[in-house]
Amino acid sequence: MNSYQLSDRLHTVASFVPKGSSIADIGSDHAYLPCYLGHQLQIDKAVAGEVAEGPFQSAKRQVKEDSLEHLIEVRKGSGLEVIEAGEVDVITIAGMGGPLIAQILEEGKDRLPGVKRLILQPNINAISIRDWFSLNGWTITDEAILEEDGKIYEVLVAEPETDRMEMTFQDRLLGPVLSKEKSHVFQKKWKQEYNQWEKILNQIERAGDTSHLKDKKKELLEKMKLVSEVLNWEKR
Ligand code: SAM
Repeated sequence: MNSYQLSDRLHTVASFVPKGSSIADIGSDHAYLPCYLGHQLQIDKAVAGEVAEGPFQSAKRQVKEDSLEHLIEVRKGSGLEVIEAGEVDVITIAGMGGPLIAQILEEGKDRLPGVKRLILQPNINAISIRDWFSLNGWTITDEAILEEDGKIYEVLVAEPETDRMEMTFQDRLLGPVLSKEKSHVFQKKWKQEYNQWEKILNQIERAGDTSHLKDKKKELLEKMKLVSEVLNWEKR
């Protein structure tokens, strides 16, 4: 991967950035995503935010090497603190866990007015982000799922909500768009998760009967039922 040739994962994130956007890429690492979008003439401006010194330096180096300093500013800081409210219209956050992405959004809420689109790629627990969307007035407008190097990734696209739309537990766990499309990769992901839950359930059944374990078992059974219904498994 480099700033001309992204991984499929980051390429999918890039594909949701509207032409002419001002973006902030938070946790940018090498700044490959903003640099790629700059080369493609897809963006008018970008802020690449990084909290860690090493990746911050790599991002600065990459932007300089690609002669994109007129378009991309690399800023050091945590989460959305690197931008002012109203400064960008798209925020991308990729390659972190869902809970960390949700935390970045929650802590940076005051920087979100004026943002028209969030493009988020959690490595795990996308449900944390969908929960945050439902609590904070964002609607999922698109989703993608892909497999690369043996790992499955989800990409969530959200825009400020115009009408209040409740997401069901099914929508928040599986994704409102992905669970309608039911792609091959989606089915593979949830078969893997189901198998994992089945193993945990067996361990719980052997471990005893505390109220915590009972709650955990109930939660797992609920998720397993949901997944088998959505994937139309007759019996497993
Ligand atoms: N976004 C790139 C991608 O998807 O390939 C890099 C992903 S890398 C695994 C995660 C990056 O996020 C790291 O460089 C890390 O330093 C940075 N990071 C983690 N927490 C952050 C935060 N709160 N604010 C800004 N950057 C953060």
